[in-house]
Amino acid sequence: MEYRAFLIKYAEIALKGKNRYLFENALVEQIRRSLQSVEGEFRVRKEQGRIYVECSSGSYDYEECVQALQRVFGIVGICPVMIFEDQGFERLTEDVLRYMESFYPDCSQTFKVNARRARKAYPLVSMEINARLGEAVLDAFPKMRVDVHHPELLLNVEVREKIYVYSQEIQGLGGMPAGCNGKAMLLLSGGIDSPVAGYMISRRGVSIDAVYFHAPPYTSDRAKQKVVDLATQISKYCGPVRLYVVNFTDIQLYIYDQCPHDELTIHMRRYMMRIAENFAVENKCQGLVTGESIGQVASQTMQSLTATNEVCTLPVYRPLIAFDKQDIVEIALKIDTYETSVLPFEDCCTIFVAKHPVTKPSLKSIQKSEQKLKEKIQDLVAEAIETAEVIEIGGK
Ligand code: ATP
Ligand code: MG
Repeated sequence: MEYRAFLIKYAEIALKGKNRYLFENALVEQIRRSLQSVEGEFRVRKEQGRIYVECSSGSYDYEECVQALQRVFGIVGICPVMIFEDQGFERLTEDVLRYMESFYPDCSQTFKVNARRARKAYPLVSMEINARLGEAVLDAFPKMRVDVHHPELLLNVEVREKIYVYSQEIQGLGGMPAGCNGKAMLLLSGGIDSPVAGYMISRRGVSIDAVYFHAPPYTSDRAKQKVVDLATQISKYCGPVRLYVVNFTDIQLYIYDQCPHDELTIHMRRYMMRIAENFAVENKCQGLVTGESIGQVASQTMQSLTATNEVCTLPVYRPLIAFDKQDIVEIALKIDTYETSVLPFEDCCTIFVAKHPVTKPSLKSIQKSEQKLKEKIQDLVAEAIETAEVIEIGGK
């Protein structure tokens, strides 16, 4: 016997009342997308508050399939399931015993049968199914014992049109399916934090597009490739990402020329936010997302965040705002962005960074120095927007 189907369990989205079908549809779509990269043909179907994934032809890679499902937000549990035609209870008993032999060859666990009769016309009620199947298992495998409170093996038998038998639940990511809660524009650098921020906001059902600011020739193609690789990695979870690569060199040089050097990062960040917001509006995003966390560096104190935030009209979401670096690193490791993030390529922010940046900038003085950019900045921003490169990532 081998598993050729999975029962998909989802929790939070089941609570959404009349909107439930929208969430289920988004989940089905995300499951289909994630399975595209897995060899084999799959059918994803929705039936009576359940979602099933079935391998519909030939061979498939079980491990790969499970891994793909483990990257879909909204899934709480993945249960490999055997589906039997209803050919009478005797036949079902035989099938269940074969199932046990096949998946639990040493047959020495404690167990409990958990029957659920969704098809009310079935001749036996749940209690009878439990009792009879339990007895058959005990007869066939004398080393097994029943434990109704804490069984090592919970043998689920669901009677629907067909009969579904499963006993294993592989943990899913939880959260909500990407796309069911709108879209946001992520400021994606090559660092550790912003890919994690993108992952986290997307786990709440938000799709993402992204902007990366580079400064050629001060930053290299390898630094850009690193960001493309990070976007590709998070798109395995978040779905397709449209990545804007913005040439920020002239803006940075101009700020460097005109503004006090201890304020450089703040001015740069303000222009990054403005440009990101432009692309966000163009792409109908409802917010911006950054990887900022209070106090992590000079540009992320409460005062600095106030200065950066001031130029935005859209809400700015900062999923990592209260996270310690170590907690962020742990997520980066889990989602496999860490190794790419720590590759030692230069970042546009670090090149023009001051030795002693302000940590408590006053909004007034920032606004005042920004006046010094009046002459050319509009044109430079317009040019940066116009010349941005667009890279579609993850099959958009
Ligand atoms: P990260 O690890 O995400 O790079 P960081 O700790 O290096 O963050 P900063 O450099 O202060 O912090 O950047 C704060 C946030 O600003 C980043 O998380 C990211 O969202 C955005 N950001 C910074 N630099 C860039 C860039 N070159 N392109 C796009 N976004 C950027
Ligand atoms: Mg950075």
